[in-house]
Amino acid sequence: MEQLTIGALCEIIRQSAPKIYNSITIDTAVAPRKHNYCYIEAHTQRVEFKTERRSAAIDEPLQNDLRAIIDNSSETYERIDKDLIDGFNSAPKFSTEGFFASTKKKMNELMNGGRNVDHHHISLDTEGNSLSKIQPPFAIKAECSITDCPNCKGTGLVEGTDAQGNPTQQLCPECKGNKIIGTLSYFIPKVIEKNISLTLCLEDEIEDFPTSAVKAHIDEKPVAKRMLTHVNGVDSEAFDQALLPYLDIVHDKTGEGNAIEDYYYCIVPCYTFTYRNIMTSELKKGVIVNPTESPEIVLIGNDSTKIINRMKDSAKIVSRFFGSIAGSAQRDKDDLKRTIRLLIATVVADGIVSEEEKQSLTLAIRNIEILTGKEREELSELLSAGDTSFLTDDDFHFHSKENSDETLARMQEIANSDGLVHETERDLIEKLKLEANA
Ligand SMILES: [Zn+2]
Repeated sequence: MEQLTIGALCEIIRQSAPKIYNSITIDTAVAPRKHNYCYIEAHTQRVEFKTERRSAAIDEPLQNDLRAIIDNSSETYERIDKDLIDGFNSAPKFSTEGFFASTKKKMNELMNGGRNVDHHHISLDTEGNSLSKIQPPFAIKAECSITDCPNCKGTGLVEGTDAQGNPTQQLCPECKGNKIIGTLSYFIPKVIEKNISLTLCLEDEIEDFPTSAVKAHIDEKPVAKRMLTHVNGVDSEAFDQALLPYLDIVHDKTGEGNAIEDYYYCIVPCYTFTYRNIMTSELKKGVIVNPTESPEIVLIGNDSTKIINRMKDSAKIVSRFFGSIAGSAQRDKDDLKRTIRLLIATVVADGIVSEEEKQSLTLAIRNIEILTGKEREELSELLSAGDTSFLTDDDFHFHSKENSDETLARMQEIANSDGLVHETERDLIEKLKLEANA
């Protein structure tokens, strides 16, 4: 749905949230404005290559393993056994740390710069639909070598002197007689996972609108869909059209150059409207979330709860009571009008009725379905009466004792609510008691 007219919006609110509809006046001169909120879940996997280099004086079995790698012409990066690295680690180390550090740095830049790694030649382990968290090491063939020990020229022996000072042949201290120095360069792919969820509005976010309201409109268990693959010889991108405008923002958080990207997204249309709070008359902004699927109304800055808290206890009791009978159609209408008149009289007798209290009670009366519009209006006007003189004898003559008792109980509750029973309150209560028992 692209356009929502103000008439349609009013109707949706009236149908889906009658209580809210009755507590506000929607400004029908202002057209609803659409704001698309997008909820996105992204699961990504990126691969980083941490390169290492080991130079050591290696024995024959290790030499054979390394030679096999160097001689294998088909693989640029060859999967190797971890034992080979362990073998290099326990063999006599050849190069100095300084040499290692600078070479490693250069190699890391080369591998992670992205330009020099052809990922097609690296076949990573997978688990189900994703990359395994633990990956095997890969030898970088072009950076592996086997050379004669430069110290002994590959003889394993060097000139020295014995205890008596005579010249003698000794085991080369650099290669420990192994004669051969092997260099193994390798990397272990590191899989970095990111899982994020975002609620975004690309153009004009609604001020003070809690995005949690949008989250309530997404699937309970969203299923993400694969949209990007750059791994194990597969290169494909299939982003949904609707998701494209949001990708830059997602990539700010997940990083560029991912190997795998899975997405779930859901666009929740929200429409803003202007309403007037019946109690405060203030103009406010309201939002209708997802109007066609499952409309939810969010009134921004609605402070009717605050108003209720400011009301005096007597008015609160009456307001609550009116609320409790709002939907009941089973009542004796004449008795109901008597109850309302008597309760209003008790509130009036209790002291000055503030503007807020008047508005709140007017609203409560307006919600009593059994009354006609004219009746509601007449009853609401009584709230502005300065005293209880609007009451007539008829107001005390209930059709049923039950209705009379219920009214009496509320009136007593009101009278006791402020601790001090007002004289007029007491008179009204006494009169009703008398009539009920007559
Ligand atoms: Zn040597």
